[in-house]
Amino acid sequence: MIGVPFPHASSGTAGCVLANRLSADPAKTVLLVERGPSADTWVSRIPLFSMNFLASYSPSWKHTTVEEKELGRPLELYTGSALGGSSRINICLYTRGLPAEYDALSAAGRQGWAWNDVLPYFVASEKSDVVDSPDIHGSQGIMLPLRRLCQSSTSAQENGEIERSAVSPTLLIRRPGFPYIADLNSAQEPSIGCARLDHTVDDHDHRHSTFRAFLPKDLALQRKANLHICTNKIVQKLDIRTDSDGRKVTQGIHLASRNGNLQRNVRASREVIICGGPFGSPKVLMLSGIGPAKHLKDMRIPVIKNLPAVGSNLQDHVMVDTAWRIPLKDSFSVYLVRPWLFILAVIQHLLFGPGFLLGAMTQLSLLASSASLDKTGRPLREKPTSTSPLPDLEILPGTHLPNEEFDKKAPFASRLPIQRLYPAILTNPTDYSQLRACIRLTLQLASQMCTGHAYPLDPLAIPADSSDTAIDAHIRQRADTSYHYSSTCRMAPENDPAGGGVVDDQLRVHGVDRLRIADSSIFPWLLGTHLQAPAVMVVEKCADMILKENRVRDGQ
Ligand SMILES: Cc1cc2nc3c(=O)[nH]c(=O)nc-3n(C[C@H](O)[C@H](O)[C@H](O)COP(=O)(O)OP(=O)(O)OC[C@H]3O[C@@H](n4cnc5c(N)ncnc54)[C@H](O)[C@@H]3O)c2cc1C
Repeated sequence: MIGVPFPHASSGTAGCVLANRLSADPAKTVLLVERGPSADTWVSRIPLFSMNFLASYSPSWKHTTVEEKELGRPLELYTGSALGGSSRINICLYTRGLPAEYDALSAAGRQGWAWNDVLPYFVASEKSDVVDSPDIHGSQGIMLPLRRLCQSSTSAQENGEIERSAVSPTLLIRRPGFPYIADLNSAQEPSIGCARLDHTVDDHDHRHSTFRAFLPKDLALQRKANLHICTNKIVQKLDIRTDSDGRKVTQGIHLASRNGNLQRNVRASREVIICGGPFGSPKVLMLSGIGPAKHLKDMRIPVIKNLPAVGSNLQDHVMVDTAWRIPLKDSFSVYLVRPWLFILAVIQHLLFGPGFLLGAMTQLSLLASSASLDKTGRPLREKPTSTSPLPDLEILPGTHLPNEEFDKKAPFASRLPIQRLYPAILTNPTDYSQLRACIRLTLQLASQMCTGHAYPLDPLAIPADSSDTAIDAHIRQRADTSYHYSSTCRMAPENDPAGGGVVDDQLRVHGVDRLRIADSSIFPWLLGTHLQAPAVMVVEKCADMILKENRVRDGQ
């Protein structure tokens, strides 16, 4: 048994940030437990290689769903399983989401979660090279550099409709109705339009996971007296006692090595904070007897606290891809067909740093609103206005290596994946109508590239025709996860009519003392954005709340 103030289960994206912030005070001891390894290799720092979460070297973890009714097949949901969690395998996009997302949390009664409340926590972690205003971006944040990988050809950005980026052959399409968004993470920019994405990469364009950013080796060594990092260990369950007055109090955690040889109880003198991600956090709660009572009884787990929302309400964005064959010179496949170019690229990288190995595949985002598109997918207005609806669609153009399926048809593939930004996959008719609008917009863009700009696109995976029936069939065939799982430990009142709640506004688990959750599982509903930056914001805020409470408790 080790005595530590903050055992802190799981060191994924959120967990590494929290460990950094809490261990800054040498008087406070922190134990960080991670199921996966540190896996800190050269390959793991190269964006192009580390994004390949299907590779045998990737520290990824697969969860397979039951058969999805609408799709007639299960989905494979991947997360990262290493220090830094999913920030070790994601595609390095950094998007905060619109202020309206957070103001909606506040309007639903979540105190302290409005845009103006959370903005300082976004800024706190940033060390951005795109700083225009210190109120919007952080330049002094200790850890998370943000880079816009393609700053090139501004004239093309402003005037041209097709652009090939300098780092990888991504295509940018602009057209009336979609203004250029100079900074996707600024509240002062239009919410609908076309933007270059920010990436979490360091000064050498290497992946900057929260592990590398918040727990670099020198910091871990410096703090080794009060920061204990345990890898390849699983938090099996929490140790919870019931006081004589019936109060449930978290005392610590049970952890075990992955081969099961080592078992240990660790006592927490202050509290336990779970950052196990949208699948890990509810699992630890349920194994500890906190969750839907009936399910726990079925599993023969003694019920400590009946909390039906634990593990329920899983939400994700659905992604439907469309694909075209593009010219070899614009495709990553050029490196397969002409391997000497690949060797040159590796040498260039080793000698001079950046190069295609560091080029994130997705560099551009087109945000649209299905309500602002006509029946053929064209924007209804030349320019969005302040009363235009918020975006509910995102098109992320990207070049992909041909996979087995496309190989059979053609060797050089480009894909334009589509995301629907709001949850509940294909369960009601509006799901289809929004996705149809997005597919029609994508087809419009493709057609414009071909006819307006004589850019050769050869269809590989698009709907058979533009009818609703054909588009719906395409949606069912190609719909997939976009890896933005959320809301399995909702921040809401325990009896919230919209699905119950697991944690309160301070991220404390309802009905169990000295226990918090801080990761992407706490959003009451899925935010309309990529979740890495919001997850980091959540723990920055959590750390601040804990440190403030401790200062009061310690009489400082
Ligand atoms: C393939 C992929 C691509 C993505 N691309 C992007 C992107 O480009 N931009 C973006 O904004 N978002 C992206 N996302 C989403 C984003 O990365 C995640 O939403 C976010 O990182 C989740 O952070 P988290 O801390 O909640 O969970 P995670 O980062 O998943 O961390 C959970 C950690 O807990 C550990 N764990 C779980 N259970 C236990 C246990 N019992 N004991 C010990 N350890 C445990 C896991 O091993 C893991 O390390 C992507 C996600 C994936 C999977």
